[in-house]
Amino acid sequence: MSVVTRFAPSPTGYLHIGGARTALFNWLFARRMGGKYLLRIEDTDRARSTDAAIAAILDGLDWLDLEHDGEITYQFARAPRHREVVEEMIQRGTAFRCYATPEEVEVLRNAAHAEGRAIRSPYRDGKAPPSPDAPFVVRLRAPDEGEVLNADLIQGDVRIKARDIDDLVLLRADGNPTYMLSVVVDDHDMGVTHVIRGDDHLTNAARQIPIFQAMGWTPPLFAHLPLIHGEDGKKLSKRHGAQAVHEWRDMGYLPEAMNAYLMRLGWSPGHDDILTKEEAVAQFEIGQIGKAPSRLDFKKLDSVNAHFMTLADDARLAYLLVDTIETRDGAPLSSSARDALARAVPVLKKRAKTLPDLADQSAFLLANRPLTLDEKAKSLMKDDFKERLRRLHTKLAAEPVWDNAALGSALKAFATDEGVGLGQIGPGLRAALTGGSPSPDLGQTLELLGREEALARIADQV
Ligand code: GLU
Repeated sequence: MSVVTRFAPSPTGYLHIGGARTALFNWLFARRMGGKYLLRIEDTDRARSTDAAIAAILDGLDWLDLEHDGEITYQFARAPRHREVVEEMIQRGTAFRCYATPEEVEVLRNAAHAEGRAIRSPYRDGKAPPSPDAPFVVRLRAPDEGEVLNADLIQGDVRIKARDIDDLVLLRADGNPTYMLSVVVDDHDMGVTHVIRGDDHLTNAARQIPIFQAMGWTPPLFAHLPLIHGEDGKKLSKRHGAQAVHEWRDMGYLPEAMNAYLMRLGWSPGHDDILTKEEAVAQFEIGQIGKAPSRLDFKKLDSVNAHFMTLADDARLAYLLVDTIETRDGAPLSSSARDALARAVPVLKKRAKTLPDLADQSAFLLANRPLTLDEKAKSLMKDDFKERLRRLHTKLAAEPVWDNAALGSALKAFATDEGVGLGQIGPGLRAALTGGSPSPDLGQTLELLGREEALARIADQV
């Protein structure tokens, strides 16, 4: 069997992390099986679907590099096909026109409720319409006996008694197909073999399976993913902070880190290695997805991101760093500032958790002379230390080679000459070079600043 999966977002908002994880799992499983991963935009709800949401979802998927196969299916455009299928069901006797008025349906619903069973329409067995032009909806003739089994690949067997399934509306009185029908027809026509989605849709499976059967179609296999909870173990909500993928991008996470992190929300391959999505393709099993909700863990995400920051291509990271700083400051960086950042990235990326963190780590490079020293830095600039700094300036100015190793040795030699430990020099020198901002070790800091700038910053203090 060749596997076909799909991600089927409703474009009523941004791409949320739950949706991103669903997309990722569908992508991973399809790639793992050598199958296809399709994308369907479920824009049937005209009142709530927006073009902006479609753009945001596509943008989020693009950022995560979850490339789909084939063309995007837009559900609303397929409404004529959905109506055609309903006609065929009527021919087959598995759907029927129901002329009950909304008031009558209300009475039916109350009666069904009182008896603890689902709604059965009086028109299911061919009762004549009240008048030739009476308005109608089309309903599924729900199965009478037995049960509907969803052998869910994650949740296990889920059985629902046929009597608990309504004669569902398939076509509304205005001729528009319902969501439940559209999903089934589209999944069938797209050849979907595996429906992997959030478990908020678990009860829908029991309603969709009879619709497949009403057409004589084989239902796909279902795999309903447990929810993602917040750090406190509660259902995700606004108070848990960022949930949209673009917000995480704006917080400075890398897409490969997001993928590596999201895939572990529910999937346990039996080891703790951090995987790229390409690496995960070789290992991914639906059977290794747990039933329990997973919890967000921002510390873990930070450490996964730090891992990918270290691995990231320097030029790419430099580009992202410049973008982060320019967006933060609302002003373009000079080309010399960009060059300084590009030189620093290979060193600083090993120390940064996120892009804003990398921006903070590299802030010392961009400070303008003379530096404004913070209180702690200022307190180190005593007169006798300034004297020492003056001698150090002379020594460093005479250094023939300006790199980390040479400068590190020069500092050690200087401390020996002065008869003190490096601890008597380091903090003050760093204060002079950075004003108190974070920076890597001193040899490295000197190298990254460059001879001219570093010596000028020291001179400014003496
Ligand atoms: N459009 C639905 C949603 O965004 C998903 C439906 C499905 O995957 O079957 O929640």
